[in-house]
Amino acid sequence: MREAIHAAATVAATQNALPASAVKLINECSIEGRAAATLTSAAEHRWWLSSASVEDALSVIAGDAINIIAGERDGKLALCASPTCQAAFFDTSQSRNSRWCDMNTCGNLQKKARFNAHRRKNLGISRMSLKCSLSI
Ligand SMILES: [Zn+2]
Repeated sequence: MREAIHAAATVAATQNALPASAVKLINECSIEGRAAATLTSAAEHRWWLSSASVEDALSVIAGDAINIIAGERDGKLALCASPTCQAAFFDTSQSRNSRWCDMNTCGNLQKKARFNAHRRKNLGISRMSLKCSLSI
């Protein structure tokens, strides 16, 4: 189920046709559970579970995934910009231009990698200019 949502969300983020096997599995999980959408007096959507079964919990996850992949939620499916991650994530930022699935992990890793690359480049330049000034 996790793989199916991952596969479907990744493809949906690039706006391609969803893989049939992933769609089938998500739908099966959604149908098998007995979770129902309920409304609270605070006008909020809350899932009601008939039991604490795995099927019900998976049904809620499938239902949420369907909402997101179908574009019914306020946000945008995107792929993480980290080359080692590339996970699909749901961007709910106001500008909808978040680049990383998680700023604390992928975002910081990328920043660190950029910083190190920048430092290496600068060190290379200063070493080169040092060599040049010695040869003059
Ligand atoms: Zn990531």
